[in-house]
Formats: sequence, C-alpha cells, structure tokens
Amino acid sequence: MKREIIKKVIACRVCKSKKLTKVFRFGPTPLANAFLTKDQLDLPEAFYPLDVVFCENCSFLQLGHVASPHTLFDKYVYVSSTSPVFVSHFKKFAVDIVSGFKLNNKSFIIDIGSNDGILLKPYKKAGMRVLGVEPAKHIAKIARNSGIPTVAEFFSFDLAKTKQVKSILFFSSSEIYGDPQPNAIPTKETYFGNVSSIGHRSCYDESKRLGRLYV
Ligand SMILES: [Zn+2]
Repeated sequence: MKREIIKKVIACRVCKSKKLTKVFRFGPTPLANAFLTKDQLDLPEAFYPLDVVFCENCSFLQLGHVASPHTLFDKYVYVSSTSPVFVSHFKKFAVDIVSGFKLNNKSFIIDIGSNDGILLKPYKKAGMRVLGVEPAKHIAKIARNSGIPTVAEFFSFDLAKTKQVKSILFFSSSEIYGDPQPNAIPTKETYFGNVSSIGHRSCYDESKRLGRLYV
C-alpha cells in the first residue's frame, strides 16, 4: 500500500472540531531533514504546505498538514552522540535521575526516540536493563552495535504493556515553560510558565504541553 506523505488536517487533533481557521502561512517548504544528494540538485524538489491553523472550539494551535511519521523518521539523519556536549549532559543527568528516583540495578529504563542510545548508555554502564525505541532503522542499528538493545519501531501503548512500563518521564518539555524564573527551578506541575499560547511559535510549545498531558 502506498503511504501518503502529507495529509491535510480536517478536524482538530484535540477536540475533533472542524472549525479550523488558518492563522499563519510559512509557505511551501521541503520536509525537515530532507537533504538532497548531489545528483538531486538539478531535479525538482518536493515542497509541502506549512500552515498553522487555530481551532475555534478549543483554541489549540496546530499544523494544517501532517507529514507521515515514517517519511519523517525512517531515515532520520541526526545522530545524537556526535555532540560531545550532549553526551556529557546525559552522563550528568543520569546521576540526578538515579539518585532522584532511587534507581538500582533492578531498574529497567526505556527511552522513547532513543536515537543512538545516548541517554541509555550511562544506565547500562551502571548495570541496569535498558531498551531503546527508535523508528529510524539505521540509527537503531548504530545503537545496537554499541551494545544498547533497541527496537526499530514507534513507541505504542501495546509496546508499553508488553514491557510493563511503570512510569514515563517526559523530557524536552522545558520549552513549554519558556525560561522559568530562578525560583521556579526545579519546575513544579503548578507552574504555568511564561510563554504565549497564541504566539507565532506556540504550536511547538502547545504540542509539547499536550504531549506531557497525555503521558
Ligand atoms: Zn480543538
């Protein structure tokens, strides 16, 4: 079956209302990370609409078109451990997580969107069981080759059930708070943050906020 690369959103992704109003148009844009090879430089390039739409019912700002996750992530090009700063960040971060959540060598850590296993390596080194979930097959292979067991698929509730996941920590969410005041660090659930929920970039913040709500 042929997969659609991009699909127009006809109903709000939160409340299903069809009262969607286009509020911003970035113009036709190639897909993220769709870099061309040298041979493709003289060929026509694929462009797709990139609009932001507003739900008149629940106020959720969202993209007007959604690209297939397989198209976006099956050949993902960014390999996390190429950044030494990132590697060192996750090492230090693991120390905080292990002490904060009282993890021990019986703990089982799953990373969703685990890339090359950058986050999991310190836990594996500390003797814990780890599993990466990474839909980009070639990157999952890099992780496996470096000793991090990794399944090359999208995370799903079925997978969570089979692995008996107890809890999920949602990273990469500080964006939803903007830049917290010093007295709001560490950031509590009650802190709403100082980002505009109707600004130009708010679809990013709001989607993270929604993702966190789901987990
Ligand atoms: Zn809505």
